[in-house]
Amino acid sequence: MSEEKLAFQAEVSRLLEIVAGALYSNKEIFLRELISNASDACDRLRYAALTQPELTAGSDPLAIEIHPDSAAGSLKISDNGIGMNHDDLVANLGTIARSGTAAFMAGLEQAKKENGQGAVNLIGQFGVGFYSSFMVADRVVVESRKAGDAQGWRWESDGKGGFTVAESDVSPERGTTITLHLKDEEKEYLDPLRLERIVRAYSDHIAVPIHLREPGKEEPRQLNSASALWTRPKSEITDDQYREFYHHTAHAFDDPWMKLHFQVEGLLSYAGLLFIPSQPPMDLFHPERRQHVKLYVKRVFITDDNEALLPPYLRFLRGIIDCEDLPLNISREMLQHSPVLSKIRGSVTKRVLDALEEKAEKEPDSYSSFWETFGGVLKEGLYEDHANRERLLNLARFRSTQGDGWTSLAEVKARMKEGQKAFYFITGDSVETLRQSPQLEGFAAKDVEVLLMADPVDEFWVTAVGEVLGLPLKSVTRGGADLSGIAGEEKENEADEKSATPEGFDALLAFLKLTLKDAVKDVRASERLESSAVCLVADEGDMDMHLERLLRQHKQ
Ligand code: ADP
Ligand code: MG
Repeated sequence: MSEEKLAFQAEVSRLLEIVAGALYSNKEIFLRELISNASDACDRLRYAALTQPELTAGSDPLAIEIHPDSAAGSLKISDNGIGMNHDDLVANLGTIARSGTAAFMAGLEQAKKENGQGAVNLIGQFGVGFYSSFMVADRVVVESRKAGDAQGWRWESDGKGGFTVAESDVSPERGTTITLHLKDEEKEYLDPLRLERIVRAYSDHIAVPIHLREPGKEEPRQLNSASALWTRPKSEITDDQYREFYHHTAHAFDDPWMKLHFQVEGLLSYAGLLFIPSQPPMDLFHPERRQHVKLYVKRVFITDDNEALLPPYLRFLRGIIDCEDLPLNISREMLQHSPVLSKIRGSVTKRVLDALEEKAEKEPDSYSSFWETFGGVLKEGLYEDHANRERLLNLARFRSTQGDGWTSLAEVKARMKEGQKAFYFITGDSVETLRQSPQLEGFAAKDVEVLLMADPVDEFWVTAVGEVLGLPLKSVTRGGADLSGIAGEEKENEADEKSATPEGFDALLAFLKLTLKDAVKDVRASERLESSAVCLVADEGDMDMHLERLLRQHKQ
């Protein structure tokens, strides 16, 4: 039988070198990764069978089996999920396809630059998926047959440079068996008790039964409770189980910052188990603004890429929503326009905002850390979600010229000077640069607080919102930002001195206008400067300066 020899993508080779040599203390996580993949494969088969029932007709129920073989020194993990064909094997187990692994490689570059090491901890931080098998095995064989295919395939590698792919007869009827030939010093993973403990610690939330085939016993033993975690009563779920579920569904490895678990019954019945990560996911600011919460219908995974499920400004959410009131065979097009989903979207959005408000109130420091990571995304809701605008304004936090921390609009309003009739803000590329802006001098002299906004989205929402808590939002880089009505700290005579234009000033202004010609619209005397001689401002009604610069960069 012909055997194809293929080389790993260069990054995979480097990754495998690190993984195989790692003195990582938590090697047992390889089992979690393989079970997680097996469970995903079962989910995908179940979904495929909705439209092609022949894929599962008459076959055994979906399950995962762990089979330690002491005589051979190997550990087998099998599933009867979707399986992989030749091309799947080459693409999935030869390149870096998953975002977690890509993040690992990026983290590695970073760690190298900083201190020349750190790779070992990164394995736990990012997870390396299937490749973690090579922490405990010096040879890995994957036999797989894709559901509906007549031909099975065998992938084999010692994790050094390349792998082989060949046709295989010994593959299971459908699904995947992974055989780990354990390194001599890793034979502990043949011990059934050790395996059982690992499964209970990391994989109890898996909804497919996980069976352990013990040596000398006829019947395999089920190790997990095999019910979807979100259907279980909250009181029976431990924090560890929630965290492991998050790692599995989100393909993430940080600790979730917040979780939301709800079971709703009534006109609409649905359950949700949602998480807000503590670390920003890689694609957070990609232009597609893809959301990642998985949609299930009656415990069957449907899709993790459904725009209608949640608004884009909540795309940092991870987890699942399981709906009872949709047909299982719902098409993608129907999903986009489903009134059931739009109702769920509305009420889940409300729940998330409720939970954020509670955090903001009860744990302001922790809320600030959330805002620091995801505020730039949540703010998109200010111009996209009119219905929730007030609540989002209330949740928004800002840097300002008063202090270094985050502050809310209500706090800024409470600190306003007598006679101040607007929120003042300045936008730019970074808060640090903004603090140095000459446009702020006059405001600083009168001790008037200015919001410092450095997210690209700020340009857009301030224009759309216009007014907050009954007061207009005004850019300090516009001509019309007028400070004269605000009570200042200066002594009276000093103020008098200023309002009288010094002698010769008109001549100077005329000279500047003539010299600069069309480069500027006008040259005016202003109260807003203290120590700088000049600053640029936009005319009232013209585009804000920073917005103009942003748009010019994008050639619009
Ligand atoms: P991830 O699970 O994050 O995508 P992995 O490295 O764990 O990354 O797995 C890579 C890919 O290999 C998976 O996305 C999947 O397409 C495929 N794969 C791995 N194990 C299985 C399996 N048991 N059945 C089917 N496909 C699998
Ligand atoms: Mg995986």
